Amino acid sequence: MKLYNLKNKNEIVSFLQAVQMGLGQNQGLFFPTNLPILKKENINNMIQMNFLDRSIKILSMLIGEEIPVEYLEIYVKKAFSFPGPKINPVTSNIACCELFHGPTLAFKDFGARFMAQIIEHLNKNNHTVTILTATSGDTGAAVAHAFYKSKNVRVIILYPKGKISKLQETLFCTLGENITTIAIDGSFDQCQKLVKQAFNDDRLKNKIGLNSANSINISRLLAQVCYFFESYSLITKKNYKNLIISVPCGNFGNLTAGLLAKSMGLPIKSFIAATNSNDTVPRFLKTGKWNPHNCISTISNAMDISRPNNWPRVEELFHRKKWNLNDLGFGSVSDEITCKNLLHLKKIGYISEPHAAIAYKLLNDQIRDDEFGLFLGTAHPAKFKNIIDKILNINIDLPKELYIPSKRPILSRMLKPNFKELKKILIL
Ligand SMILES: *Cc1c(COP(=O)(O)O)cnc(C)c1O
Repeated sequence: MKLYNLKNKNEIVSFLQAVQMGLGQNQGLFFPTNLPILKKENINNMIQMNFLDRSIKILSMLIGEEIPVEYLEIYVKKAFSFPGPKINPVTSNIACCELFHGPTLAFKDFGARFMAQIIEHLNKNNHTVTILTATSGDTGAAVAHAFYKSKNVRVIILYPKGKISKLQETLFCTLGENITTIAIDGSFDQCQKLVKQAFNDDRLKNKIGLNSANSINISRLLAQVCYFFESYSLITKKNYKNLIISVPCGNFGNLTAGLLAKSMGLPIKSFIAATNSNDTVPRFLKTGKWNPHNCISTISNAMDISRPNNWPRVEELFHRKKWNLNDLGFGSVSDEITCKNLLHLKKIGYISEPHAAIAYKLLNDQIRDDEFGLFLGTAHPAKFKNIIDKILNINIDLPKELYIPSKRPILSRMLKPNFKELKKILIL
């Protein structure tokens, strides 16, 4: 697989290089040179396959010979060793595609766990890698679990002290072993700034083999393509023709993966890019002006992003496929309307959470009678117990993935937002 840098098309790298580098020169994103296209009969055959076999096929088609198929097979089986997508009908023509049955109860498990396998592959010659990442919630948990006990990989996760929920904290700060968690006495932005400082320190970067494992990493996106195929295979045949998928968007990685699946020939009629009040993309699609506002805190906090870093990939894909951006559905939903839709979903028998409820609301508004719609369930409602219980007046049960760690001690160390102090930990 070859990829080019969107900011400098002459910078061409292999898949493994792109995974290791994350970003190219001038912070440019890598994008595949070739986009494979499947024939209709191949798609039909693939729909019949099981999730793992099909995912091996998709990923080997995308990645090519750089990773021998017999290895890829092992990696995919290890990465996706948890319950895949489930379709949960909500109305006669709308269903939730639940992607949250993995070890950290969010769709990020698919991407993070596949990436962990690729990093281990890169590490066969025993270089030590340090994964340094900042999290405001779900990424930290998915990355920590994906790399837990991985050989020669050290994971360091920074998060703003007291600014993530107790449940989110227990999910990644109770593991120990090769996972170090650091509660920064500051904001999420300050955590991100510390990560950037580390990546700008070339000597440090080479010395400890720094990698950020964040959502711009191409390995995460490719893994996510697989569950779009699986979701399609799980719906009934009569809905194949007019399928709409509504995606709750933050950094737009999930939507990029869905569009990649469509570009390969998966017959998805259209997508809806659903955001909360951080509506840079909906405003862009309406007015043609890219004008990010300051980030606003909402109850769908994993989508509190006003400069979505995968957006250039979405534009590139539309450009390459000669698709029209006007065909992309979109919308932004306030907290108030999100709550209303959570209550409405409860009334019709479905307990959801804020991110998915936003996707549901826009789908429900925009779907036509002859269409079938899926909205993506990106996280388990129990992850947001503190607010869901209040909004819906229920007492949601904790699944074992949350209950077990909630009984364990938090192992995090505290740190002021000071790069020198962080560096001391990094070079240990
Ligand atoms: C990360 C996340 C999102 C946003 O996904 P992107 O790929 O960044 O657009 C949406 N919902 C939940 C629950 C998340 O954790």
